[in-house]
Amino acid sequence: MSYNMEYICIYCGSSDRSGTVYRDAAVEFAETLCDRDIGLIYGGATSGVMGTLADAVLDSGGTVTGVIPETLLDVEEPHPGLTELITTPTKDERKQRMAELADGFVALPGGIGTQEEILTSLGQAKHGRHEKPCGFLNVNGYYDSLVSFFDNATNEGFVTEEQRDLLLIAETPDELFDLFDNYQSPVL
Ligand code: AMP
Repeated sequence: MSYNMEYICIYCGSSDRSGTVYRDAAVEFAETLCDRDIGLIYGGATSGVMGTLADAVLDSGGTVTGVIPETLLDVEEPHPGLTELITTPTKDERKQRMAELADGFVALPGGIGTQEEILTSLGQAKHGRHEKPCGFLNVNGYYDSLVSFFDNATNEGFVTEEQRDLLLIAETPDELFDLFDNYQSPVL
């Protein structure tokens, strides 16, 4: 089966202190999205890897939908140039809306917010709430320790082999989309 991907939800860092290697990776990822005609769904901010990613997709002529909770509007100016900006009453409803709109989920490097979001998507896949692929772009070995964690969790019997197969890990955007193209939700 070839997975039909129209919109992808990207979780990534909001910090302005992350290094240029991560910004460069976001630009490369944005170019791959546009080459493949895939629209971006993301958290709507201008800061950090998030802002770089949205800018790069818009610069390449792609579509970007930001989904931001009303509570964050007080803290943070949403990106002014988005194709569409959706506001939700709460952070949980934002996560739910992003999940409904997207055909798959990717974590680029990021902090606690990013991990919370991608693990929510993985948890929902584990519980059969969706069959969409969940991937990690392992820029600069950023996710090596997370991969080791899940390998250990599998060895120790906390995660089944089938659940471990939910985590798609790639070093480059093309490699990740090849995994997505061939993705079949494991029988859990
Ligand atoms: P973090 O990895 O902790 O920087 O959090 C980034 C992730 O959480 C993004 O994928 C966003 O969806 C969400 N997020 C965190 N902070 C913000 C913010 N200031 N504006 C918009 N989204 C945010």
